[in-house]
Amino acid sequence: MPHLKPVGKKVIAIDGPAGSGKSTVARAVAARLGMPYLDTGAMYRAVAFAAMRRGVDPEDAADVAKLTVDLSLKVTDRVLVDGVDATIEVRSPEVTRAVSVVAANPGVRRELVRRQREWAEVNGSGVVEGRDIGTVVFPEAPVKIYMTASDEERAQRRSQEMLDMHYDDVAADIARRDHIDSTRPVAPLAIAPDAVVVDTTTSTVDEVVELVLRLAGEAGLV
Ligand code: C5P
Repeated sequence: MPHLKPVGKKVIAIDGPAGSGKSTVARAVAARLGMPYLDTGAMYRAVAFAAMRRGVDPEDAADVAKLTVDLSLKVTDRVLVDGVDATIEVRSPEVTRAVSVVAANPGVRRELVRRQREWAEVNGSGVVEGRDIGTVVFPEAPVKIYMTASDEERAQRRSQEMLDMHYDDVAADIARRDHIDSTRPVAPLAIAPDAVVVDTTTSTVDEVVELVLRLAGEAGLV
């Protein structure tokens, strides 16, 4: 994928699997630094939501890729899909089940990565979280964090958010998504060679936020 302008020179990239604590840390870091924040997972979820809403089979790669290019999508603290507020719906179990297949679609990734780079160019700097931010979207990012935690801890965290789902179902869903996300041919979940790996199984949110702020300071971002 051509990536001529290094628009990520002021990006803090936070990657990792579901339940690793990325979103909590990324939001807190963005707030402390007064930087904009982008949840790229919400963008993939929005595409899965749009496909389901329009009756397009998430497995139909050509149709889903086409839909992505035409999709009106705004991700802030709300998620607007074709002008409709889908903030709650994109977190539903149905969308969560379909999202990894949609995210493995190269046509979908091409378009969303293009929009993510455009976002960074328009904003000038930002905290961006996802699966491939430090490896593919902004390989030039001066701060890259790869957050992880034990499988049990991640499932525990997610099941506290998804009150209508059993722990076993949440754990199975995370394991399935981890597998698809880390084995897909295009931009799999992976640790960038220059990323700092943080295991959040036993650390507090504050400790991780302080670490990221220190790295941002060392990189001259603050
Ligand atoms: O972060 P979240 O769990 O909301 O992401 C939902 C899904 O979106 C992930 O399981 C993954 O399939 C996909 N994703 C991705 N690349 C990103 C962000 C999310 O493939 N940068």
